[in-house]
Amino acid sequence: MKEEIVPPYLLGLHAAERPADPLVSCIIPAYNEAENIVPLLQTLHGLLKEHGYRHELIVVDDGSRDATVEKVLSETAPLPVTLVQLSRNFGKEIALTAGVNQAGGDVAVLIDGDFQHPPELVPEFLAQWRRGYDMVYSVRSSREGESLAKRCFTRVFYTLLNTGARLKIPENTQDFRVLDRNILDALRAMPERDRFMKGLYNWVGFTRLGLETHTNVRRSGQSSFNFKRLLDLGLTGLTSFSTMPLRIWTLVGSAISLVAIGYAFYEAFRTLVFGNPLHGWPTLAVAVTFLGGIQLLSIGILGEYVGRIFDEVKQRPNYLISRIVSPADKEHAPRH
Ligand code: UDP
Ligand code: MG
Repeated sequence: MKEEIVPPYLLGLHAAERPADPLVSCIIPAYNEAENIVPLLQTLHGLLKEHGYRHELIVVDDGSRDATVEKVLSETAPLPVTLVQLSRNFGKEIALTAGVNQAGGDVAVLIDGDFQHPPELVPEFLAQWRRGYDMVYSVRSSREGESLAKRCFTRVFYTLLNTGARLKIPENTQDFRVLDRNILDALRAMPERDRFMKGLYNWVGFTRLGLETHTNVRRSGQSSFNFKRLLDLGLTGLTSFSTMPLRIWTLVGSAISLVAIGYAFYEAFRTLVFGNPLHGWPTLAVAVTFLGGIQLLSIGILGEYVGRIFDEVKQRPNYLISRIVSPADKEHAPRH
């Protein structure tokens, strides 16, 4: 991976601006994490306390169908936990967005709720933030344990996404990262509905550092990213960060037209020299079906973009919150 070079004076400037006693907001998207969420919150609380960080732990419940909310409300009383409960399952990207909007800290930590992102690395990420990096993100050291199909799919996706793009989105990065207040504010200012967070983090710029980290296996429960969801996310990423798929058809169209013109000359020449016996049906059939296919495909691609424009112009909110329970509320809540 190519590391971005950040001028040391810039890091120095940023480091000098870091507050002496920063508030750290941990953002944890949770969908059916009943078994994992309480231990994770306790681990994070312990780690941050040990390193002397003031902190808030924001759990975004993304419409879980298990006891996630109940456990967060009943078993985390002494911890500084804020629960943001979304009105239904909106998907991880939106859950992260809701967390970013809720975060009030000087710096935020984005971490999965299933222990796959090692919590013990959070202090190290924060130390790098203190050194002056605005964003510290994790880069997977290997994709071991993932199916061959998933790895191939990811490869193809990043190749398509980054070919010809001015802003390359680094491969193998994860949502596990630390974001400075500047970046949180920038993300908040982006109103788009179609949210591909890895693209957005990249778009905002600022100084960043990628750290190679290992990924644990999910502690309990199962991943909710099946093939369809990944495909959805892939298409969102492609259509919201690249116009390459649209451009391909201009190129393919031009190439086909050139070949067709050449072929027309060839046919004209042949007719003049050898006369015109009635054949050529196979060529015609091939040309018609081939072009028909290409046209349908390119209309489909246009449709993907038009569909997304449709979603954007409706101006619906990205998510709805059914309730927010903050530590202050818990103090006043009646105890049973
Ligand atoms: N998640 C979420 N909403 C969803 C799916 C997942 O908030 O619709 C959360 C989930 O609780 C976990 C994180 O996103 O904290 C990563 O999800 P998962 O482990 O299912 O995905 P994977 O690790 O396989 O990419
Ligand atoms: Mg996971």
